[in-house]
Parts: sequence; C-alpha cells; structure tokens
Amino acid sequence: MGAPESRLNQIERMRVLVAQALAEARQQALPTLRVVHLVVYGNLPDSDIHHFFELVSTGTSASGAVLHIDRAGSRYICWNCCGTRFESSDGMCPNCGEIAMEVPEDIAFGLKRIEAG
Ligand SMILES: [Zn+2]
Repeated sequence: MGAPESRLNQIERMRVLVAQALAEARQQALPTLRVVHLVVYGNLPDSDIHHFFELVSTGTSASGAVLHIDRAGSRYICWNCCGTRFESSDGMCPNCGEIAMEVPEDIAFGLKRIEAG
C-alpha cells in the first residue's frame, strides 16, 4: 500500500526517530536501547513498521531493541482552525465541527518514549 515515494518517506522518518531514540538514551547516559515505544496513527500495518525499524536500526546501537507499538486513532488536521491537529475515528473537528483532512501516512508515526539500560 502507498506509493514507493511514500514508503521512502516512512523509512526516512523512521531513521530520524531511531536517531532521536539513541540521542535520548545517550542523554540519560544509558548505553543500551531496550524498548522503543512508538505511537502509530492510521492503518500502517505493524509488519511494515517492524520492517522499517529493522532497516534503519541494523548496524546501530538500536539494533536488537524491542519495538512497542501503541495504536492511536487516525490523526486529522483542520485547516478551518488554522491547522489544529486532533485524533478521531470520523475526522470531525472537535473545535468547529468541519470534516478535517487526514494526516498523510508518511508522518503517521512518532516516538513516544524509550526504555534504556
Ligand atoms: Zn476545526
């Protein structure tokens, strides 16, 4: 699912998230990244997310870390309300009641927290 271009964006985004996770572990002076908690919006399959993570973590200290996926509702942006972001199952803006635009898949996951030791 998704164009190859969007897949590349997702891999790039995962690369940034892994770098961010490693930076957080370093900040806490904990050398081993054990668990990476991601929050995922929309319908991106777990298998894809695990695949992206493996692709970008191989050869880094994030390799071997356990990926924990937290599912959130689809994420929407309401342009009527100057780009208000919210989570919803039907896309209706809680602020103005307009149907908002779904956030594209290539920005549909984010780093929640890490566990390091
Ligand atoms: Zn709105």
